Amino acid sequence: MYSNKIKAGALSLGFSVCGIAPADNVGRYADYFKNGLATGNHADMTYLECHFDKRCDPRLLVEGTRSIISVALNYYPQHRLGKDQYQFALYAYGKDYHQVMHRKLNSLFAYINKEVHPVNGRVFCDTAPVLERYWAWRAGLGWIGKNTQLIIPRAGSFFFLGELFLDIELEYNIPLRNHCGNCTQCLDSCPTEALEQPYKLNARKCLSYLTIENRGGIPVAQAQRLGNKIYGCDECQKACPWNRFAIPCNIPDLQPCPTFLQMKKDDWEALTEEQYKTLFKESAVKRVKYEGLKRNIKAAEKQSTIELPV
Ligand code: SF4
Ligand code: SF4
Repeated sequence: MYSNKIKAGALSLGFSVCGIAPADNVGRYADYFKNGLATGNHADMTYLECHFDKRCDPRLLVEGTRSIISVALNYYPQHRLGKDQYQFALYAYGKDYHQVMHRKLNSLFAYINKEVHPVNGRVFCDTAPVLERYWAWRAGLGWIGKNTQLIIPRAGSFFFLGELFLDIELEYNIPLRNHCGNCTQCLDSCPTEALEQPYKLNARKCLSYLTIENRGGIPVAQAQRLGNKIYGCDECQKACPWNRFAIPCNIPDLQPCPTFLQMKKDDWEALTEEQYKTLFKESAVKRVKYEGLKRNIKAAEKQSTIELPV
């Protein structure tokens, strides 16, 4: 009863899917995560090494948590950059998803308190040690594909994930079984072979990591594979057959602005810091900073390694 009301509230706020899982230890997924860290495949994202216990048990992160609501928000944009122009990952087209998601998650939290049942808890979106894809799977939203993304059946993977940790018991969804089958299209499409095995992503080779999180140069082997990518890479998602079901979202905050869509290669190559600040004022692209984006543009232009200025 409460669970159905919560899910209805989530959908009315614009989330595409909502599911609920019991808050407990992540079990064998902790080994998968730990083994990933042991290989060093997280490159210099050392924050992933912190709070392992809290990451693997949400009750240690927020005391009293009994249920985890997992929600997904479609970000597939209505309009795209021209195919022959420099490319950005689709998630970065609109306003910073952290803010968009937090606003909606807080609205859902307030709705639950007002319309469903008094609750205590916290909301999260990519800002805390939470295994978001695992919880989305546990809550029945989809399965974790060979490309390590959460795949939602008949919807795809172009979704932001968020969670509410709540201190009440609810009715729980059943996790979906994996439907990747014999498909290997994500692995085959990766320009740098960063998906070394199914479910194993080596960030040190991944163009998404190298053009966003990476604070050093882009190694020449990967720079040669950039093509037109200057912020992120969606190849292993675009290749996934489940993304044929992607439909453009209608959330105004997630749509690209006309100036961004009209940018040509020459405009990017001549981009000043002032223009960068204006264009990405409310965008997640701020994360890479002006110097980082210029590094990426130069690397894509020359298809060769470019160091960041020290
Ligand atoms: S984001 Fe791009 S480089 Fe990274 S694993 Fe996917 S296809 Fe490969
Ligand atoms: S491309 Fe195929 S193997 Fe990869 S995540 Fe999608 S369905 Fe799974």
